[in-house]
Amino acid sequence: MKILVLNSGSSSIKFQLFSMKNDKVLAYGLIEQIGEPSGQVKLNSIHHKEPITKTLHIKDHEEGIEIISSFLIDEKIIKGLDELDGIGHRIVHGGTVKEPELINDSVLKEIVSFSALAPLHNPPGLAGIKAAQAGAHKVPQVVVFDTAFHQTIPPHAYMYALPYELYERLHIRRYGFHGTSHQFVASQAAKELKKPLSKCNIITLHLGNGGSVAAIRGGKCVDTSMGISPLEGLIMGTRSGDIDPAILFYLAREDNLKAKDMDTLLNKKSGLKGICGTNDMREIMLGIKNGDERSKLAFDMFCYRIKKYIGSYLAVLGKVDALVFTGGIGENAVDVRLEVCSGLEAFGIKIDKSANAKRGNIHVESKTSNVKILVIPTNEELAIAKQTQHLIQQIRA
Ligand code: ADP
Repeated sequence: MKILVLNSGSSSIKFQLFSMKNDKVLAYGLIEQIGEPSGQVKLNSIHHKEPITKTLHIKDHEEGIEIISSFLIDEKIIKGLDELDGIGHRIVHGGTVKEPELINDSVLKEIVSFSALAPLHNPPGLAGIKAAQAGAHKVPQVVVFDTAFHQTIPPHAYMYALPYELYERLHIRRYGFHGTSHQFVASQAAKELKKPLSKCNIITLHLGNGGSVAAIRGGKCVDTSMGISPLEGLIMGTRSGDIDPAILFYLAREDNLKAKDMDTLLNKKSGLKGICGTNDMREIMLGIKNGDERSKLAFDMFCYRIKKYIGSYLAVLGKVDALVFTGGIGENAVDVRLEVCSGLEAFGIKIDKSANAKRGNIHVESKTSNVKILVIPTNEELAIAKQTQHLIQQIRA
């Protein structure tokens, strides 16, 4: 079975083609600056060591899909897109939808209806779906929502203490994001724990450019740090995470800030970058080595916020089997893991310094730790491919 996974941004399409027989990636790539004078294309397949790169004008997402299709045909991986068994799309906001869905007109309408909640993410995702439908109209297509895994969160955790009418009329509530990643690493963690996922209590930390924490009880998500949008919660690359909302009223009065400016301020100019000028954790670590105080402050703030969330989710879950680190920072930043876990020994969380320092180690807890500390690489694309395969097989059966 061959499944293509697409992740479409406003001017980009990221793709991976999987052979589901052995979860092998046959081809992958990234098309960027769609609609700009010079678009960038980076294509890889099992037949090449180095990526094929091109610069050319790519009018729209449909042209992007045509480039992917021609590449896969030229590489003799498929004879045409219609030969695919399925296409899986990552869509950021799925409202309260709990499961992946086979795309049809009513699902498309549903995605449009969630666009008001994710204006930057859902419309380009839709453009990707429409382009893929135009290029491969016989292939079943599936949508996997980033919000889906979090839809088991109970009302007392997903409601905001705002007038109830706003929930009823505008659907203002916590939805959560990175769900595919949290779900994937939680199920991998269960394998490490040698227990069924339904018997595991886990705190998953997805720390990339965006970051979120999930509290998982018996395999089901019961709370997460991101909210109605991916802005709430942890300190991220360029996002503030939790702040006192009164800061916005103050800025509106003092600096005449409008809604659009607030959006840019909190989403693009804040977080690690707002504090020390870079959102790259590697540069921050270098800055700390060179004695840069702002880098140290950004690092300390970042780790402290994570620690506070771990504390609150320990209280939410009562008993925790494992703490899981994933994402670019979670998987690679040894010092972040060390700092986050330090001081949590009283809760049975004890990291092993040398195991933590060794790249590729999954278990980084000490022998006396009650809670396992796991470093598990996320693979959202494979998770989407598997969910797409599963749904298509169910329909065929
Ligand atoms: P995205 O959310 O965009 O998918 P990633 O999961 O790729 O982001 O994570 C990006 C973050 O991971 C950046 O802050 C980057 O600095 C950090 N990172 C990547 N490699 C390392 C490393 N070796 N050490 C520390 N941080 C790293």
